[in-house]
Amino acid sequence: FSCCRIVVLGSSGVGKTALTVRYITRRFIGEYCPTLESIHKLQTVVDNEDTRLEILDTAGQMMDSGCVWKDYYAFWGDCYIYVYSINDRQSFDQIVNFKKQLESVRKQTLCGILVGNKSDLLHDRQVLETDATELADEIGCKSYEVSAADWTQVDRIVDLFSDAVREYRKL
Ligand code: GDP
Repeated sequence: FSCCRIVVLGSSGVGKTALTVRYITRRFIGEYCPTLESIHKLQTVVDNEDTRLEILDTAGQMMDSGCVWKDYYAFWGDCYIYVYSINDRQSFDQIVNFKKQLESVRKQTLCGILVGNKSDLLHDRQVLETDATELADEIGCKSYEVSAADWTQVDRIVDLFSDAVREYRKL
């Protein structure tokens, strides 16, 4: 057995809970209490290796400056999934800060995956795919664009969580 703790981070409303629940249950849930923070524990197989996963689905405002939760996230996680929404530029611009804040607490580079959610809202796009690949290069992450609302994308969402485990194993 290997273990991996994944923290799902991002501004409020970007779809962290929708993605996490989609991954765990393969279902989409539309509404969820925005302040609720939860840890999901599950067993899965990544590249033929049994893995015990703990996924911390965070509440956005916890990353505000001066908040002690930030320190907790920084030490809790093995890998971070940074979520923004493709129709919310601010949520994208926040990611660099989130990563910097965590790394300044932990005093080391942390592995992560960059995820642009709500790719179904193309008409409302505020973040280009090229912006995302540039940022991913800059912060040394793989990047994905997905839609938690689109059931045909479940496999991609499973892939991105598996990639988080792979990134951690590489360390
Ligand atoms: P969180 O605050 O980051 O955990 O965001 P939630 O998971 O609670 O989602 C916030 C809102 O965005 C909810 O109304 C969801 O139904 C909606 N949502 C989440 N993912 C998607 C998506 O991929 N596409 C669309 N169109 N809406 C989504």
